[in-house]
Amino acid sequence: MALDTPNHTQTVEGWAAYDSSGKIAPYIFKRRENGVNDVTIQVMYCGICHTDLHHVKDDWGITMYPVVPGHEITGVITKVGSNVRNFKLGDRVGVGCLAASCLECEFCKNSQENYCDQIQFTYNGIFWDGTITYGGYSEMLVADHRYVVHLPDNLPMDAAAPLLCAGITVFSPMKDCQLLESPGKKVGIVGLGGLGHVAVKMAKAFGHQVTVISTSPSKENEAKQRLGADYFLVSTDAKQMQRGKRTLDVILDTVSAKHSLGPILELLKVNGTLVVVGAPDRPIELPSFPLIFGKRAVKGSMTGGMKETQEMMDVCGKHNITCDVELIKPDKINQALDRLARNDVRYRFVIDIAGTSKL
Ligand code: NAP
Ligand code: ZN
Repeated sequence: MALDTPNHTQTVEGWAAYDSSGKIAPYIFKRRENGVNDVTIQVMYCGICHTDLHHVKDDWGITMYPVVPGHEITGVITKVGSNVRNFKLGDRVGVGCLAASCLECEFCKNSQENYCDQIQFTYNGIFWDGTITYGGYSEMLVADHRYVVHLPDNLPMDAAAPLLCAGITVFSPMKDCQLLESPGKKVGIVGLGGLGHVAVKMAKAFGHQVTVISTSPSKENEAKQRLGADYFLVSTDAKQMQRGKRTLDVILDTVSAKHSLGPILELLKVNGTLVVVGAPDRPIELPSFPLIFGKRAVKGSMTGGMKETQEMMDVCGKHNITCDVELIKPDKINQALDRLARNDVRYRFVIDIAGTSKL
């Protein structure tokens, strides 16, 4: 934290991990006053992304403790800076992964702030004023309005919260692979967790045939019946994987742990594309044979730009896409993180920060 932060005057109650045990406990801290470009948001709900788990446990070796996680934030605007024109008091809004970027590079100018090399995140980042950013596991947030989006009126704030990270993270590569405008493709989703289940809903809404590739046979029925998937492959079953060879145009890999891309690549048609969005702490295996024999491509994708995030929200509003959530009170965050680590959630925990839901 920068030493000279005189405008950090607002006391906020939140929840933080203090060390790599990852245990969350209450944490009182300061946020900046609402600046001319800022909006202040009363946080209503915050999703628990697997990235939060990676951070609290310092999986990636980059965590600055105490860390206040949370980048799937929905809330209501309570203050508006004098330069802000597109938000007003009482607006229902969302904040995702981004807190700041340089605003000048080709990516910032081209609405791809997420690829700015000075990008700062909603938590565990260093803001323009030198302070460490604290995320949405907290009752109030001050955000630069350029990194805030409007929520469509028809989307509930709890089930919409995970769209701010899980939603945009799968929407952006789908758009990049032209899946929004060309229905009828064969799309694979690897890992049916927070990201994966929204990806299934979106791909179906965009008119594609969807195959889930999962390590959990117990998810098959709900994948098909509740989320609308057409096919389900158990990735540990070699026969099933064999039958799926060369069937898919595009695959999104959302897996949070180390695994091999080889068997997944085999599912792609010749010239198919595999987009990796999962971020395991150790390198994933990329054997060359399935790559070269099928002229296949592997690429990555990191969240999305702000314009695209608003577009994603509006598309979800239009198709009524929300997340399947399990609401919890803040005092259950540790249990929720433990269950997330055990792959025991259908499909996203969301914290009722403001305590307005009946739990
Ligand atoms: P999640 O809810 O835990 O889902 C991950 C899924 O991966 C699990 O549900 C499970 O699905 C599968 N899985 C877990 N362990 C596995 C293993 N050992 N082998 C194979 N499959 C396994 O996590 P999430 O919130 O969706 O996040 C997923 C990953 O994306 C995390 O690494 C997160 O940090 C990353 N992420 C990246 C971005 C980005 O911008 N690129 C944004 C957000 C999150 P099955 O039970 O179906 O196998
Ligand atoms: Zn996330």
